Amino acid sequence: MEFLPLFHNIRNRRCVVVGAGSIALRKLRPLLEAGAIIDVIAPDIDERIKELAKKNSLNLNKKYFENKDLNDAILVISATNVKEVNIQVSNHAQLLNIPVNVVDQPELCTVIFPSIVDRSPMLVAISSGGSAPVLARMLRTKLEAIIPSGYGSLAKLAGKFRPLVKEKISDPNGRKAFWEDVFSGDIAELIYSEKNEAAEIELQKKIEHNKAEKLGEVYLVGGGPGDPDLLTFRALRLMQKADIVLYDRLVSKEVLALVRRDAELIFVGKTAGDHPITQENINKKLVEFAQQGNRVLRLKGGDPFIFGRGGEEIEHLGDHGVPFQVVPGITAASGCASYAGIPLTHRDHAQSVRFITGHQKNNELNLNWAELIAPNQTLVFYMGLNGLEIICEKLISFGMDSLTPAALIEKGTTRSQHTYVGNLLTLPGKVREGKAKAPTLIIIGSVVSLHSKLSWFKC
Ligand code: SAH
Repeated sequence: MEFLPLFHNIRNRRCVVVGAGSIALRKLRPLLEAGAIIDVIAPDIDERIKELAKKNSLNLNKKYFENKDLNDAILVISATNVKEVNIQVSNHAQLLNIPVNVVDQPELCTVIFPSIVDRSPMLVAISSGGSAPVLARMLRTKLEAIIPSGYGSLAKLAGKFRPLVKEKISDPNGRKAFWEDVFSGDIAELIYSEKNEAAEIELQKKIEHNKAEKLGEVYLVGGGPGDPDLLTFRALRLMQKADIVLYDRLVSKEVLALVRRDAELIFVGKTAGDHPITQENINKKLVEFAQQGNRVLRLKGGDPFIFGRGGEEIEHLGDHGVPFQVVPGITAASGCASYAGIPLTHRDHAQSVRFITGHQKNNELNLNWAELIAPNQTLVFYMGLNGLEIICEKLISFGMDSLTPAALIEKGTTRSQHTYVGNLLTLPGKVREGKAKAPTLIIIGSVVSLHSKLSWFKC
């Protein structure tokens, strides 16, 4: 081990920062967060540091560094671009046995700053001992991604109840098991979804009974348009937690592969005209499974609140007192538009965008066509493959220019993505010729003309 990792309490103690440019600024922030009283010493002081000094315990000393500036300091940071000054600061600090850090000069340091993942009071510090800071930062990015942002609140909650738990559960192993259960179970999940009060109540109950009370809950999760990289962190976490998964046809294989291995998978998908399970039955099953104490994942394609009937499902859960949470997903419009290089709005093309269902009832599409032909807007049709001809004809008959650019994106964001581009007159022919298959999304409007320039995704 090159360095000994320690966490240093510097609250209300004097730290000295020599230098007042942008590098010094970077170091000042963590010192301030840790509550230090800071003396900045430099002949010229960056405006941003002056700004910082207005609201923080930061004393600005506009002068050249002298050895006596280090008297009484408990930590010294040299962040100047003058090598001689850095050496002088380092030598004198070492003479006085004060820990010293010289930015980007490990040979002059007795202490170094780690990369940190901050979920205060929980902190993760990472260091490569000065040999590969970029690698340390990459590791930090990975950890940032997997540690829920609610970890801090979870640690605070644990801190608050620690004495009581110690009093009630005298056996250290019992206490360990108790906390493991709290941190990996429903109480943690309540904290992550910011239901702190409910978490406290559950924790109180758990302390009183010291047994895991399994709460049933439904997670209504948007699985995005296909590419598993587009899942949210929360979606992934809940997918890893669920006991039972009810999923739709639109959920991609790759996304489904990420649910907990031993979870029970139930397909409740619907294809046009073929309804293996009715909506009513899905609603019923969700309630039933949750009431049995299961964590039920209702996994949907895209976003559950966009043409996903998510609203109806949770209404039913609410009526039956079943707790639930909703996790948004990337809706097909966002996913397909991004991956096809078609911005849905653009200052020169469209100031608004409409998401429309192209699903036909009895071979009819009852839409307010007159509104849809307004200029400077983008139209996005979900479920429009069968009705593509009707959509294009109707728009033209209500006055939209027949040369308006139009695109159809097949299996957007997946390795099989295909984009058909034309205009209201030509698109249907191209799509039928290419034998496009669902799911597909139609985008109509002048933004489609940007596709040839902005398309970037190669499958
Ligand atoms: N809740 C979903 C939409 C469900 S409706 C969402 O937010 O995306 C189903 C329609 O979504 C499909 O008919 C199709 O129009 C569209 N769709 C979903 N995934 C798609 C994909 N990968 N590529 C193209 N269209 C998609």
